[in-house]
Amino acid sequence: MARAQFANKGHGRYAKTMRGNIVHASAGELSYEIREIVDFGLELEREGIKLVWENIGDPVAKGETIPDWIKEIIMEAIKENSTFAYSPTKGLLETRKFLSTLRTKEGGEKLEADDILFFNGLGDAVSKVYTYLNKNARVLGPSPAYPTHSSAEAAHAESHHLTYQLNPYRNWLPDIEDLRNKIRYNEAISGILIINPDNPTGMIYPERVLKEIVSIAKEFDLFLISDEIYSNIYYGPEKFVSLSQVLDGVPAIVMKGLSKEIPWPGARCGWIEVYNKDKDESFARYIKTINDAKMLEVCATTLPQKVLPKIFSDPRYEEHLKNRRDAYKERAETACKILGEIKGISVVKPSGAFYLTVVFDQDAISGDKTIPIKSEKIKSLIEKKVATLKEGELDKRFVYYLMGGAHICVVPLSGFNTNLYGFRMTLLEENKEKFEKILKDLGEAIEKYLSS
Ligand code: PLP
Repeated sequence: MARAQFANKGHGRYAKTMRGNIVHASAGELSYEIREIVDFGLELEREGIKLVWENIGDPVAKGETIPDWIKEIIMEAIKENSTFAYSPTKGLLETRKFLSTLRTKEGGEKLEADDILFFNGLGDAVSKVYTYLNKNARVLGPSPAYPTHSSAEAAHAESHHLTYQLNPYRNWLPDIEDLRNKIRYNEAISGILIINPDNPTGMIYPERVLKEIVSIAKEFDLFLISDEIYSNIYYGPEKFVSLSQVLDGVPAIVMKGLSKEIPWPGARCGWIEVYNKDKDESFARYIKTINDAKMLEVCATTLPQKVLPKIFSDPRYEEHLKNRRDAYKERAETACKILGEIKGISVVKPSGAFYLTVVFDQDAISGDKTIPIKSEKIKSLIEKKVATLKEGELDKRFVYYLMGGAHICVVPLSGFNTNLYGFRMTLLEENKEKFEKILKDLGEAIEKYLSS
């Protein structure tokens, strides 16, 4: 009977909803524009164009080769049977002990091996940290926001992510007044997130700003989360300081990982370091829940944990990191030199991570701009795609035209939970000539678009 009714509605045999609502209340909060744009890019490539992929922060996919000595350490680990075994839920003890000693050497607050917990990539850690936080407790994050954090936080609360502003006209520094006011007028805010060095802006939180955030956390009795997956990728005038060095007793979770610095994103290895758990009972209970949840999953991948101490303590590692910093520094300078001359946009030279974020001036961008596209087929695909956009999705419009007209794929800034219009590209292209060509093509495309 029910089936007949649906058929009569003309939706076809399967166009019905289930008797219970199986859609999660936060279904609309999950978005990851960095990868969502890929499907459309691949559709364009099937029509014969070759795109330059500037969307994903994977240095290996972009051509970086891993030094042989690192591969040799991994090959040695593969020869041991124990590498194929489960590891303890928190992670291999010797690796956690190694990290706890390393933090002491760096001058951070006390970190016991027991207060480190490994995950299958930091993405997994981010998901668990918000999933097991009480639904009514909110974490205030930066805007623009790396979408894994903002989506996971929004999903846990079944509401939009709450943010404080990073100001593109003040080197992307956080607006501390905005942050303080958001906290003062919202009792639900229980934590503050920082991403340091930041994705997508490349900003590094100066020590004095970190201390201000710590003091706000103290004043309002909050915990802190600091995502420091890019902590070894800094090359600007601002010195990188880990939150663990300025905590002054505030409960905090510091997040680290191997994806960006070895770089080894395919290892799926990230971990959290928990500070000052003993200072706050409910924070300690929250951390126990995360640990218990990880126990249900047994453990994180063993191989990267096994080789981590050997790689990090090898004298060649520091040199490896330095070479990478030097390369990003040079590329950041080149990018700012080429794009910095273009009218209608602002570009802040990044100090860390490996992204560059471009912001359009508010009055420079509108919903009728285009870039000439030679192929009729590609043009029609772009126009069809643009027609699906909602009003005001102005940077997405630019990004689609950039794909069709200049064959470059970047991520619209609106995919980072902000109302600023712009886009994020990477500093990952290793070939100097190729990198400069991408920037020049990009610059020309921006000029054509803004003057159309
Ligand atoms: N945190 C930040 C700020 C990132 O940029 C990324 C990946 O791009 C992640 C976390 C996730 O890293 P992982 O590869 O360890 O899941």
